Amino acid sequence: MTRGYNFCSGPAMLPGAVMQRAQEELPDWQGTGMSVMELSHRSPEFVSVLEGAEARLRTLMNIPEDYAVLFMQGGATLQFSCVPMNLMSRGGAAEFLDTGAWSVKAIKEAGRYGETRVLASTKDEGYRRAVRADEFSVGADAAYLHYTPNETIGGVEFNYVPETGDVPLVADMSSCILSRPINVEDFDLIYAGAQKNIGPAGLTLVIVRKSLLGEVMHDTPSLLNYKAQADNGSMVNTPPTFAIYLAGLVFDWLEGQGGVRAIEGINAEKAALLYDAIDRSEFYRNPIALEHRSRMNVPFILADEQLNDRFLAEAGEAGLYNLQGHRSVGGMRASIYNAMPLAGVRGLVDFMKDFEQRHG
Ligand code: PMP
Repeated sequence: MTRGYNFCSGPAMLPGAVMQRAQEELPDWQGTGMSVMELSHRSPEFVSVLEGAEARLRTLMNIPEDYAVLFMQGGATLQFSCVPMNLMSRGGAAEFLDTGAWSVKAIKEAGRYGETRVLASTKDEGYRRAVRADEFSVGADAAYLHYTPNETIGGVEFNYVPETGDVPLVADMSSCILSRPINVEDFDLIYAGAQKNIGPAGLTLVIVRKSLLGEVMHDTPSLLNYKAQADNGSMVNTPPTFAIYLAGLVFDWLEGQGGVRAIEGINAEKAALLYDAIDRSEFYRNPIALEHRSRMNVPFILADEQLNDRFLAEAGEAGLYNLQGHRSVGGMRASIYNAMPLAGVRGLVDFMKDFEQRHG
């Protein structure tokens, strides 16, 4: 098996060991004579796969019993609608912190369902930092506060959890879930598309405080109703069975790495290595405020943008893939999620130094 280092922001690199195990188990899952993707979702075998994945996630994230874990579809983008459908009828406006492209999309979708209020935005500063805690206060009447702890495109990450008192806190953790320990009880609803730190695209994870379930807007489809999904074990319809199975394997792998606390240490080391290489050079630059730099997505620009194509081509030849920045911002971006080994970041840093020497 020849695998390079894939720096894509998502779908992202998955652990090689998980790919290997999935390959071995693919045609015949545990002596059933069937692939896991051929199992009925209602069969005891598949229910054990789903429950096993949930149990491992609960252990990894220390999720209390009064939170439901839902395996949904439609990506994080559908959650931009599901959240207001499920929480806005509690009354009051939905409040938001605007720190980049994904916040903007969440705000826009929620606006279809009721009043939205942006409490603070860093748009005027080019989204080069997160909102600071002293820049907003949550309305006592708000239905919830939504924020994006890690802006995948901008490479901006919050270094604190907003305080919202009794107002539910909703976090789009698509690009930072499982990357560092969090206290789940600081949040009321967490959602994440799977294709970065969880598994393949097609699966969306929702972790929601059970006391919030039930007050949905009346025309909410059952498939998007958290209470209906919770009551039906995430099987209002056929769930993305193979993606759930793979997520379970990724959770196993993460446990084997020592869990979230251990991976946080490695993630911090990877990010420090890369930012240090960027900061030491005149040739590369990252514009984000130091205290809000993302550990997962590291955008950088070359002093001479004319060299972008050459940088990408030579990186590809060196087995370093998908380093182009998001089309809306240009430049480069290295996404270094849990499955990216330290060796991959070392390889990138060595390549960057070498490229600078030859072209700087
Ligand atoms: N939110 C964030 C923070 C993201 O990074 C992404 C995807 N890159 C999305 C939402 C949208 O996710 P999806 O494509 O799964 O709908």
